Amino acid sequence: MNNPVSVSPFDVRALVRSELAALEAYTPIVPFEVLSARLGLPATQIVKLDANENPYGPAPAVIEALAEYNFYHIYPDPQQTELRHALAAYVGVAAEHILPSHGADEMLDYLCRIFLQPGDAIIDCPPTFGMYNFDAQLTGARVIEVWRRADYGVDVEAVERAVLEQPAGRVKLLFLTSPNNPSGTWLPDADLARLLRLPVMVVLDEAYVEFADHPSRAAWALQHDNLVVLRTFSKAAGIAGLRLGYGVCPAWLMAELWKFKQPYNVNVAATVAGLASLRDLDYLRATVEKLKTERRRLSALLASVPFLEPQPSEANFVLCRVNGRNAREIKQTLERQGILVRYYNKPGLDNCIRISVGRPEQTDRLVEALHALTVHRT
Ligand SMILES: *Cc1c(COP(=O)(O)O)cnc(C)c1O
Repeated sequence: MNNPVSVSPFDVRALVRSELAALEAYTPIVPFEVLSARLGLPATQIVKLDANENPYGPAPAVIEALAEYNFYHIYPDPQQTELRHALAAYVGVAAEHILPSHGADEMLDYLCRIFLQPGDAIIDCPPTFGMYNFDAQLTGARVIEVWRRADYGVDVEAVERAVLEQPAGRVKLLFLTSPNNPSGTWLPDADLARLLRLPVMVVLDEAYVEFADHPSRAAWALQHDNLVVLRTFSKAAGIAGLRLGYGVCPAWLMAELWKFKQPYNVNVAATVAGLASLRDLDYLRATVEKLKTERRRLSALLASVPFLEPQPSEANFVLCRVNGRNAREIKQTLERQGILVRYYNKPGLDNCIRISVGRPEQTDRLVEALHALTVHRT
């Protein structure tokens, strides 16, 4: 039996920061295993194309390294020296400029808390990844939205106007994502160079850069004091569940982050897995190539579905506008067959679905189901 809750003689909830009261809780997605039980399908039969995970997972050498590691009872190295040096070789930037984190998401949270206080503002360029808006709001900062153009490119002039029309110093962070999630759009070098002239800190999120047809701009963070580039092992390296990301930062920002970060923010399993991934770059690169090849095939097949309009993508997913049909019903019909895609219906993403690139046989099941939908209307 539960003990009755003792009620405080004052309103304890009033002690919570006022910015939090205005926020809504994150809408969780149904866990994969729950859905598999609900549909009566084994987890291996679920075609999970809704969260941009890598269907190939990590290299076998990563699983072996995790199994063989013997020191899980020891705290991690707070400076992550070995991992930072391995990352330096992979990224092509000195280890002094790299800081690992508990997913790129943790770095986003750190940056918001380092730069923002109530009264400050950020610039967000929706439709894009939701965490920038979320983390900024947690600090009490205002989110100024500068909408992307119809082709999902960043409206550079509108961003410039939005910064310059605020009092000097009010806008602190500008979040840019390349390739962008959920559109897959690349931000051209010239646009990035121009935005870096603004008097703000630019956060360039490169979570999907391994899948792009353009090179990373991580090294730009050494030439621009106002640029930090975020990367992750969640997508290309296939260890989203272990939570490992990193920031590539100018020297002055590294000094601030060393003061700010939790000593043990990156756990030992993530470190072991990250190091093993970086030792087997042949596997990582081969997996990325398979997914890029599959992206081309998926895009072409989606274009053959009469009601879908796939957008060009440099990431491991394809955003589709749904024409003349209800995207939500399509998502639900697919879900009943164990095929999961991401559905959107919000400004800039009216009646859209986003499909992660899977294995060829997953593409085949999806496309077959979509064509069946063309014949039997939902
Ligand atoms: C998935 C994703 C991330 C999150 O990366 P984690 O390392 O898993 O926290 C960051 N940015 C974008 C744009 C993403 O889509």
